[in-house]
Amino acid sequence: MKNPNDYLFKYCPQCGGKSLVISDEKSFLCSSCNFKFYLNTAAAGIALIFNKKGELLVTKRRYDPAKGMLDFPGGFTDPGETIEACLIREIKEELNLKITSLKYFCSVPNTYVYKTVTYSIIDFAFLCSVDDFDTIKASDDVSDFYFMELTNLDINRFGLDSPKIVIDRLREGPISITN
Ligand SMILES: [Zn+2]
Repeated sequence: MKNPNDYLFKYCPQCGGKSLVISDEKSFLCSSCNFKFYLNTAAAGIALIFNKKGELLVTKRRYDPAKGMLDFPGGFTDPGETIEACLIREIKEELNLKITSLKYFCSVPNTYVYKTVTYSIIDFAFLCSVDDFDTIKASDDVSDFYFMELTNLDINRFGLDSPKIVIDRLREGPISITN
């Protein structure tokens, strides 16, 4: 795999020399002081939330990348955080909903371009239960939300690749949230 940021990082964070060269697809080596700089894969959570009618909760992205396109709620883990805690936090921040249980569904490798840096991501999708939808409100990096039937979802309206793969997996069904 090619390093997707080969044109970006030139200066060594340790010695300051313009001596950083690509080591492999995720690391850079300083040819002057031997410092090694890693751009490791980041973890993110995707929340799959069905309402009582069996419709799936879909969000609209407020910011780039893929601003205005559809997505699933979720986001990047903070340092020291579990994926489960990340999803509980993100779904509270983005939609003011309280997750009551989570069940692992699948993981999808992804790349995410933010302000010219290409990040390698691993997305963890969880089936999440929410008992009370009355408090729902779009905020943070979500501009709107919709409940949609899985069969009616148009994957071309999703801006990033991993939701499309997750939708394919969901359609392979059957889905059970019970632990
Ligand atoms: Zn150096």
